[in-house]
Amino acid sequence: MNFHDFDFKERLLDGLDAMGFEKATPIQEQAIPIILEGHDLIACAQTGTGKTAAYLLPLLNQLTGSESDQVKAIIIAPTRELAQQIDQQVEGFGYFLGVSCIPVFGGGDGSAYDQQRKAFETGADIVIATPGRLISHLVTGNLKLDGVEYLVLDEADRMLDMGFYEDIIRIIQKLPKKRQNLLFSATMPPRIRELANKILHEPREISIAISKPAANIVQQCYLAYDAQKTALLQKILNTSDFQSAIIFTSTKDKAKSLEREMQKSGIEARAIHSDLEQAQREEVMLAFRNKKLKYLIGTDIVSRGIDVDGIELVVNYDVPPDPEDYIHRIGRTARAERNGIAITFISDKDGFKFNRIEALIERELPKFQVPPSLGESPEYKSRPAHNGPRKNFRRKPGRR
Ligand code: AMP
Repeated sequence: MNFHDFDFKERLLDGLDAMGFEKATPIQEQAIPIILEGHDLIACAQTGTGKTAAYLLPLLNQLTGSESDQVKAIIIAPTRELAQQIDQQVEGFGYFLGVSCIPVFGGGDGSAYDQQRKAFETGADIVIATPGRLISHLVTGNLKLDGVEYLVLDEADRMLDMGFYEDIIRIIQKLPKKRQNLLFSATMPPRIRELANKILHEPREISIAISKPAANIVQQCYLAYDAQKTALLQKILNTSDFQSAIIFTSTKDKAKSLEREMQKSGIEARAIHSDLEQAQREEVMLAFRNKKLKYLIGTDIVSRGIDVDGIELVVNYDVPPDPEDYIHRIGRTARAERNGIAITFISDKDGFKFNRIEALIERELPKFQVPPSLGESPEYKSRPAHNGPRKNFRRKPGRR
């Protein structure tokens, strides 16, 4: 379906043309008419499906030409990186529309807070916010939400994972009762249903296949002990020509130590984590986005939703604990119909976790041994042992 087939205003179509958007993605095709008709919506879609434009385009269309300077739409997102990306898309699509938008997220110095406060005085059509910072502006009375007509919760599952449930409810209590609610989530666990029941009104529901990674991602694995992983990663990066790769670790401490080890070996990789100042995080992200930095290291929380074009390789340095996260992680590559590679390191402790991922994607993935120069790989045991504790790997004799 072409964007010109939607009942969009001319100036929005001009913005889409300028950005080179022609055909709607499946989530856009399904969500846009529902939103334009004014229904509440609960949409199950991962990053990379075009879900941001799926709600932004109808919102921008409806907000165009509004005279009032009250905030009319509020978009809540789990991380500042995602909030910034949404803001950038608003700027792109809304170039010809004259719709104003204020991004509101924590971090930064006091001047950012003051700028946000001043921007509220001038007024804006859309506020894009992370929950914590939004609450602080609401509590101090800087921001009034009496005129809000649209509420979007983006990556709702991740917001609940990050403990934002109470904050979200507090924010919603400040909104007018009559409004259109749009909830986007990559997964639909029962807690999301509960949240939806609480805040949505007779929602329409759509779901874009969650459990299948894009077909244009080549997925493969290496069986590697923890102690072999860094050398393996260095080998992979040194012997190939990836221009842009993201490496996921399970904790921020691991991200930091991997950054140190990579830099020591002469590989320019930077880690992004919550201990960095916001300005540093932005600098790292900008360098990665502009392809000045080839390798970005991060954890799920920080990296989720990172929307960078042209990522050729995703490395799961650690197997993600939640199988859905595997799909999110590898969805960073092969966007917009390009090809990508996803490589997962499976340690001797990860067999069962990886079984669950293979069950979710309904595929067994090829598993390679580490190169002989790195020693022997652990054995992959695809099933838990019967009787007694689960053992997915048997250590080779003599290995501890
Ligand atoms: P999202 O799932 O919202 O994170 O979007 C993933 C990426 O796809 C973003 O870089 C968007 O700019 C891009 N995108 C979204 N919709 C379209 C479309 N209809 N045509 C081309 N690119 C798109």
